[in-house]
Amino acid sequence: MPTLSERVGTFTDSVIRRMTRISNACGAINLSQGFPDFDPPKVLLDALEQAAHNGPHQYSITFGAQNFREALAKKVSKTLGRMVDPETELCVTCGSTEAMMTAMMTICNPGDKVMVFSPFYENYGADAILSGAEPIYIPLVPPTYAFDLQKIEDGFRQGAKAIVICNPSNPCGKVFTREELYAISALVLKYDAFVITDEVYEHMVYAPYVHTAVASLPGMFEHTLTCNSLSKTYSITGWRLGYVCGPAWVIDGARKVHDFLTVGAAAPLQEAAVAGLELPESYYEDLRSLYTQKRDFFCAGLDRIGLRHNVPQGTYFVMLDIQAFLDLPQFQGYTDLQFCEWMIRNIGVAAVPGSSFFRENVNHLIRLHFARQQSTLEEALKRLEKMAALLQENG
Ligand code: GLN
Repeated sequence: MPTLSERVGTFTDSVIRRMTRISNACGAINLSQGFPDFDPPKVLLDALEQAAHNGPHQYSITFGAQNFREALAKKVSKTLGRMVDPETELCVTCGSTEAMMTAMMTICNPGDKVMVFSPFYENYGADAILSGAEPIYIPLVPPTYAFDLQKIEDGFRQGAKAIVICNPSNPCGKVFTREELYAISALVLKYDAFVITDEVYEHMVYAPYVHTAVASLPGMFEHTLTCNSLSKTYSITGWRLGYVCGPAWVIDGARKVHDFLTVGAAAPLQEAAVAGLELPESYYEDLRSLYTQKRDFFCAGLDRIGLRHNVPQGTYFVMLDIQAFLDLPQFQGYTDLQFCEWMIRNIGVAAVPGSSFFRENVNHLIRLHFARQQSTLEEALKRLEKMAALLQENG
């Protein structure tokens, strides 16, 4: 019998993506895998039509089409408060998923240690395994998701080469404050390490919280690989357009890794997405208001029907506390995964079990997202109300 690599035996398939498959099979409202059910901006659809007729249809430059990188550099320069050079400081990837993998493989040798906050977006675990890095987990402790800076210093003392920061954080909705990022950055500089940052939810940050790009802090551009994508910002998760931004010598390495991983992101989609990158500032303000409304509506609905949850500072995710259900006799011994499967089949709403994000033994939280049209959110809340009624019946 031939054997597979040990590597593939060390992680499971993505729980997030698995929940989507079960949800689709059962016809549930899918609030598990985060993606919108509404259209991208019309300028993007028109540009896509143009690209269909006029091309390009062949490979672009492996590290990103010239016009796409130039448009991207303008946008990223504003965020980072410095001129980003499209010739040397950007590598376009197939989504932020590839950007993160590329960043990790660019920096890490097998056995290198990398700090990862827990809870974390589940891909980071697989990124570490595939690149051979050994994660050191730094707890973000619910309900405030605060962390202990001393643990980060301990990690660097143990030789960690990098720290992964997801800001705003999937799944817990934490937005790192400027002070927190300054404190982490001081350690990164002290120990001459790297930050790998995932900032795909940068435009989904709710007042009074504000997004700070770690690479914009003094001295940090040289130590940061900023991973990002167009998926959430322009509602085009299926286009798989992402990028890594960083100092030229690091991006030179990243471009090599990326070239052999995927050759390049889809050329016609890069061409069409330039129209998105050129949208005025008001587009991002409108996007923030739209998601603020959705967050407020969804959280108010959960409050009204009596389900306990956090209020995210950023992202489009809400963590629901299901402990009260797990205490009911009919759910005795249920894992959060079993509870989510029960929810899909009996309530018609799909969520992601929190245990797939935590290193610690956490079984009482599940993740829902609200990147859905108003009518979908209303229907989801109606269904969740039936679930909440179980608590009253038994309580
Ligand atoms: N980032 C989104 C989530 O956490 C989508 C993940 C994915 O499947 N690529 O749900």
